[in-house]
Amino acid sequence: MTTGRDRCSFCGRGRERIRKLFSGPGGVYICDLCVKLCGQILSKEEDTAEAPKRAASVRELPKPAQIKAQMDQYIVGQELPKRQLAVAVYNHYKRLWAAPTLTDVELEKSNILLIGPTGSGKTLMARTLAKILDVPFAICDATPLTEAGYVGEDVENVLLRLMQNCHFDVKRAQTGIVYIDEIDKIGKTQENVSITRDVSGEGVQQALLKIVEGTVASIPPQGGRKHPQSEYIQFDTSNILFICGGTFSGLERVIARRVGRQVIGFHGDGGPRRVSEEDVGTLLKQVQPEDLIRFGLIPEFVGRFPVTAPFAPLTEAEMVQVMVEPRNAIVRQYEKFFELEQVKLTITPEALAAVAREALVKKTGARAIRGILEELMMDLMYDLPSQTDVAEVIVTAETVEKRTPPQRVLRRDGDRAVA
Ligand code: ADP
Repeated sequence: MTTGRDRCSFCGRGRERIRKLFSGPGGVYICDLCVKLCGQILSKEEDTAEAPKRAASVRELPKPAQIKAQMDQYIVGQELPKRQLAVAVYNHYKRLWAAPTLTDVELEKSNILLIGPTGSGKTLMARTLAKILDVPFAICDATPLTEAGYVGEDVENVLLRLMQNCHFDVKRAQTGIVYIDEIDKIGKTQENVSITRDVSGEGVQQALLKIVEGTVASIPPQGGRKHPQSEYIQFDTSNILFICGGTFSGLERVIARRVGRQVIGFHGDGGPRRVSEEDVGTLLKQVQPEDLIRFGLIPEFVGRFPVTAPFAPLTEAEMVQVMVEPRNAIVRQYEKFFELEQVKLTITPEALAAVAREALVKKTGARAIRGILEELMMDLMYDLPSQTDVAEVIVTAETVEKRTPPQRVLRRDGDRAVA
């Protein structure tokens, strides 16, 4: 038999149907579900009260030019995507903050699709935007996502990650940015579709579409697959900015076919001609929704991404800039590490160019840089802390190309000696 101590005085649910029961004076009890509900009602009221205040702050939003200027501090090149994203993000938050006061027009949200080679700064740009705007950010990979009922991850888990990143402040999470990588891998004509996901990839797109369009999703707070008995957090996605990214390799051929350009030529020796990276960049700038549909995305999904930003492959000069210019550039970080050991680190311009060339060969964009530099620096980072007589280390092109040890300039009273 259940007693008063075993049930919620508000909703009457018994202990077996709730997770926590809080007691109050006079023998009253309230369950976790009622507490959550009260919280939701209160935050809704606060929302309405805050609307005029938020509208006033539209003027305080960083302007597109300011957003771009901040992006310039972290991201090299990619001028067009930077401008496109700055405008799209500005409009998104303007819509969000002004919407409660607008009655005549409905501003639609514009999610963003980033297309371009791996390691060209797509994820970095989405992450940087979230930092500039100080909104919650979550990143996930589209490949393990599945339609509910198939083996894999439910698409709602993307939202769970967003909430986890802002300590379950649902209201704040609902205005965040979600970056979904490898979106091209759920194209229905992709070769790598798996029968554990769904036969065509279309089901995943449909499931993602709902969230991207704006829906109230039910999210299991502990993550994992949905379970009929578990409690869900109600999460409204209509104000989330979705940025999807992918390499879309082969898309350039689809575009080329449409614009009537011959890209599959033949060399004199009869071999097929590769599309140059420059060609790829030029072609991707001309991408139209129909090309993405032909590539395998469903029309409704494409329709939800009115902004398409084409990322160009980084050139050798840009790779060098990536190493030295951003505020968190890897060479700057190494210089700091060495400085803390009271050693000056000099990497010559020729050495930087050699690293850039080596990275280009690996075809993973700027991602390859860190690995190469770490390999070069490994022994130094190991030895230096126990070598108090080294004043300077010089990395030259030869150090990079032949993997010879860098020059060490020894500390000596008054003059310098090269080791
Ligand atoms: P992807 O385009 O595959 O999403 P990322 O943004 O993850 O590439 O880039 C991987 C890493 O390479 C970044 O963390 C950053 O260090 C570096 N990087 C790539 N592109 C740029 C760029 N345009 N400017 C500065 N750094 C970059």
